[in-house]
Amino acid sequence: MRVAIVTGAARGIGAVTAQRLAADGMKVAVVDLDEQSCQATVDEIRKNGGEAVAVGADVSDTDAVAAAVDRVAEQLGAPTVLVNNAGVIRDNLLFKMTDSDWDSVISVHLRGAFLMTRAAQAHMTQAKYGRIVNLSSTSALGNRGQANYAAAKAGLQGFTKTLAIELGPFGVTANAVAPGFIVTEMTAATAARVGVDFEQFQAARAAETPVRRVGYPADIAHTISFLVSEGAGFVTGQVVYVAGGPRG
Ligand code: NAP
Repeated sequence: MRVAIVTGAARGIGAVTAQRLAADGMKVAVVDLDEQSCQATVDEIRKNGGEAVAVGADVSDTDAVAAAVDRVAEQLGAPTVLVNNAGVIRDNLLFKMTDSDWDSVISVHLRGAFLMTRAAQAHMTQAKYGRIVNLSSTSALGNRGQANYAAAKAGLQGFTKTLAIELGPFGVTANAVAPGFIVTEMTAATAARVGVDFEQFQAARAAETPVRRVGYPADIAHTISFLVSEGAGFVTGQVVYVAGGPRG
């Protein structure tokens, strides 16, 4: 049974992905900042007959990451699947963006993915098998008010391609999934920031999306499920836009 780590899995895309990977037959470590907040995802997985553990860790903290990956290996077995999903937004137009807005976004997305991957790859290369998925975004292509987030999400694409090159010889693939607009607390917060009712915000985004709907966490979980499957071993270094259109 493969062991998967999903970060930022207390809610949103991460929670649904953790549940999906458990349904696919993996043991899942549900990682988020606060261990208590992971419990709902873990309970849902166990209710459906799966195996999961809650692990509290800040993915941008080197020691916390090392301890978390060690704990997963002890409690579930060597992690050979990693989904770097934890994320934050600190949107602001460039002239108003603070050092802290910049640093916190770069730190969670980029440094977090780096630290988690560096810790987990030791298990993957030893097992001669691994699947890594990093959450990018259509914002990597540029998005007003998100200089920090766009830089982090574009950075993750370069990080992913480099992982594919370095880890490929060890049977490890690395891909990025770049969602468009997905209904979660993150996009609800964006609607609140710009002062638009969330339902109206979603309707406006659906109208400008080729498939005429917004995305849901299950859309992303489905794509991740494929990329981390045993059969996807020849797919690596790719960025899959899951956005209801060519670029959301
Ligand atoms: P979300 O609902 O805000 O969930 C993100 C989770 O990450 C939260 O549980 C959060 O915990 C956790 N987290 C934040 N900082 C962390 C840290 N340092 N260490 C560990 N966990 C941390 O977000 P989402 O919408 O599901 O997004 C998931 C991923 O998809 C993110 O990388 C996001 O950038 C990406 N994405 C989302 C969309 C979208 O439309 N929703 C589009 C493109 C890409 P707290 O609640 O404690 O902060």
